[in-house]
Amino acid sequence: MTARYTPTRDELAGVLAGEPRYRVDQVWDGLYRQLAEPAQMTNLPAALRSRLTDELAPSLTQVVRRESDGGDTVKYLWALDDDSRIETVLMLYPDRVTVCVSSQAGCAMGCGFCATGQAGFTRHLSVGEIVEQVVVAGRDARAMGRRLANVVFMGMGEPLANEAAVWAAVERMHGAIGLSARHITISTVGIVPGIRTLAARPLPVNLAVSLHAANDELRDELVPINRRYPLEQLMDACAGYLAAKGRRLSFEWALIDGVNDRPSDARELSRWCRRFRLPAHVNLIPLNPTPGYPTVGSPASKVRDFRDLLVGLGVNATVRRNRGTDIDAACGQLAAGQPVTLRDSRGTSGSPR
Ligand code: SAH
Ligand code: SF4
Repeated sequence: MTARYTPTRDELAGVLAGEPRYRVDQVWDGLYRQLAEPAQMTNLPAALRSRLTDELAPSLTQVVRRESDGGDTVKYLWALDDDSRIETVLMLYPDRVTVCVSSQAGCAMGCGFCATGQAGFTRHLSVGEIVEQVVVAGRDARAMGRRLANVVFMGMGEPLANEAAVWAAVERMHGAIGLSARHITISTVGIVPGIRTLAARPLPVNLAVSLHAANDELRDELVPINRRYPLEQLMDACAGYLAAKGRRLSFEWALIDGVNDRPSDARELSRWCRRFRLPAHVNLIPLNPTPGYPTVGSPASKVRDFRDLLVGLGVNATVRRNRGTDIDAACGQLAAGQPVTLRDSRGTSGSPR
């Protein structure tokens, strides 16, 4: 048995050995263009359909599907074959449809404000497990009369800690599903070697860097991996990515009341952007509540003030609309039903000030 969305086209040809050559194209097209289940591939003989249903097993078993925002946000909780859990979020906007996919079950980066980080790391996802999230969300969008065209790696996990599988999934989304690389965004906590690897990859995907702080002292606390890859290195890698790709770079900034929403934070950020000539776009979002982190998001007025200050300093910044908070589907709230630990004795990393 093979995971349905793992085989390459050549490997699929192996699964279809003994069938006429054109079957490979039909099945490939059925899986990725029509987003069909084998049973729905009516251009195949019934016996082959049932063989493929058995041999190309889906990797995701739906545990829960929840909607919010009047059906415009859908969160899926999936069980994987080893019973670990991941989540995917589908977001329907008036002008576009975006799916937010997970790249790992859990996350090892330990950002204290993030529910995924609070639950710890389980394992990397495979290519097939990542791609299947896009396929099933695309199928669901189509059932709602919409076409999925955007993918963001902002679900559970750190994509650049699982770069090889993430990249193979990007290539599959681009080459087989037909999504534009310009509509795919990889969000990273700031794994510098991963950013450099990505810069050398052929497709021009968007890069989002979860910054949250613009001085090492504060960032060391909020985002522990900063101790390994401090801001100087991170900004240099970002500049390298921009130079290589000419693609949009964005910084994610979750505003935490009284922690990283001060005028000095905005000024420090603008200094980095100037120094590295980074025409970055800053996405501001008030921190979403998570069980393991007592500090709260900045109130709306402070979020606006922070944005205005950044814009005044010449930094492009917008406030991101929050989605799915009532079903724990918003940024940083994905824990796949795992109990999240309360802050413990692991030191001060990510602890509120
Ligand atoms: N590991 C990657 C991608 C997944 S997290 C990364 O960190 O970039 C997706 C985004 O949600 C990141 O920008 C992350 O910093 C942000 N985030 C995490 N917890 C959050 C919270 N409680 N409120 C708002 N955003 C949060
Ligand atoms: Fe991992 Fe990203 Fe959450 Fe940090 S914010 S713990 S890197 S998923």
